[in-house]
Amino acid sequence: MIGLISATAAGAAARDRLAAAWPDRTRVYEGPAGEAVRAAFAECDRLVCFLATGATVRLLAPLLGDKAADPGVVCVDEGGRFAVSLVGGHGGGANELAYEVAELLGAEPVVTTATDAVGLAGLDTLGLPAEGAVAAVSRALLDGEPVALEAELAWPLPPVPFAEEGAYTVRLTDRDVQPGPQEVLLRPPSLVVGVGASKGAPADEVLGLIEEALREAGLSVRSVAELATVDAKSEEPGILAAAKRLGVPLVTYPADELAAVSVPNPSDAPLAAVGTPSVAEAAALREGGELLLPKRKSTAKPAMATCAVVRRPARGRLAVVGLGPGARDLLTPRAAAELRRASVLVGLDQYVDQIRDLIRPGTRVLESGLGAEEERARTAVAEAREGHAVALIGSGDAGVYAMASPALAEASDDIDVVGVPGVTAALAAGAILGAPLGHDHVSISLSDLHTPWEVIERRVRAAAEADIVVTFYNPRSRGRDWQLPKALAVLAEHREPGTPVGVVRNASRPDESARLTTLAGLDPATVDMMTVVTVGNTATRNIAGRMVTPRGYRWQHAPEGAR
Ligand code: SAH
Repeated sequence: MIGLISATAAGAAARDRLAAAWPDRTRVYEGPAGEAVRAAFAECDRLVCFLATGATVRLLAPLLGDKAADPGVVCVDEGGRFAVSLVGGHGGGANELAYEVAELLGAEPVVTTATDAVGLAGLDTLGLPAEGAVAAVSRALLDGEPVALEAELAWPLPPVPFAEEGAYTVRLTDRDVQPGPQEVLLRPPSLVVGVGASKGAPADEVLGLIEEALREAGLSVRSVAELATVDAKSEEPGILAAAKRLGVPLVTYPADELAAVSVPNPSDAPLAAVGTPSVAEAAALREGGELLLPKRKSTAKPAMATCAVVRRPARGRLAVVGLGPGARDLLTPRAAAELRRASVLVGLDQYVDQIRDLIRPGTRVLESGLGAEEERARTAVAEAREGHAVALIGSGDAGVYAMASPALAEASDDIDVVGVPGVTAALAAGAILGAPLGHDHVSISLSDLHTPWEVIERRVRAAAEADIVVTFYNPRSRGRDWQLPKALAVLAEHREPGTPVGVVRNASRPDESARLTTLAGLDPATVDMMTVVTVGNTATRNIAGRMVTPRGYRWQHAPEGAR
């Protein structure tokens, strides 16, 4: 919950805007600012104070305790010009909140935490537990001193400008090692512990066995991602308690699924008890990975628990990101976040140029020229399979005549895929033209490089017959000049010569141009590959120079058969 505190009328107005925008995330604290701050500090995980920084600092000072536990506090000035991340920048979430509040109020975010100031993620914000010399190594990175990454396993980390070698190191490891004096250890959740237990096995026995097994195998308990067992043991108190004390979830599988997993040490006892020859090894191996520690029994007499440890392969992350039609403010905040999140960026060189300033230091950029679509898709998937965080970018929406389908056709279920929608050219053009897409509409690409012309023409004809608004993508290029006139002729068989047609070139780019003409009046020579052409249906009108397709056109226009 975000506590909101204000002292003046202007502050209250800005506060109310925030409260209205985030009704479920915020709580307004009324009354004298001092009491309000104290109450919110105790009850909320973040605060926004519409107060001077000086006043806020004085009120907060006696309340501040531990930077890991204190709420993050953002200050907004009287004029609503700045959102200052005051305390708890990373752990308290104040930096992120300052950006969000600034975005909403149209203010400038003020973030002074060093690593954020230069666009680097702090080492404690990489999404993994960090141990060791976090402050010193973050500072070294910031000062441009070489910091080397020693990754013992692959993991989809955000970008960090690591050097080949350096006096400082960041070690990504699930092994039970101690950090050196100039070293940070990052702990990936890479280990799965399979657990078997007889009815009534004590929690101490289960936990003791797990800890001892990890110690002996030289593995860190901080890298345990989950405990796994058979469905029949999902309520076994000793296993549940062990998971709880380790702070990890318990995952369970049906016995027949475990019976199908091939394991080195099957036995008859669990087969008789729960219907699978292996519980610990099979549950740990169920989702794949490498068996680091085969089944072992606890040393109690009689032994009531077994465990086995598996290292899972890293799941890379592929974000398929639409950049929008061109203008920066039509690129979504989520797309920008994914560009910052990826350590490998794959895209057409001209699209990379469009967002180069958003790329963080340490990002590996793989750009290529026009025509290398298949290769880009393959590269992006291959990088994700190696465990990296990859962003594959496309203009408009990356799923519309773009990279998403070739990439996903290539991908298997061993990577995570995240799609970020973008404003596609038809929508950008529609907003410029007026409201041409107010009723049913289709997009048709006139590029016959990958699609036979007969198929394209059949679809244009179907749209014509069904009286659907049509937006043509890839309408005309130097080598392809007869397709657009032909498509327009097909539409003209079913629509009046005066039907409105919108032509938008470079929507939202610096040299944007738009024209509203008619089916008869359109000169195809004015159309090129930077253009979309939207042809209205029989109800579309030019109203005050804007292209409008009525929504309720049942009343204004009845199709032939319905009259
Ligand atoms: N994924 C893109 C489309 C790629 S196909 C999207 O969702 O918008 C390329 C075609 O899109 C171009 O030939 C052109 O017809 C159209 N296009 C892309 N961006 C455009 C823009 N800013 N203005 C007008 N048309 C655009």
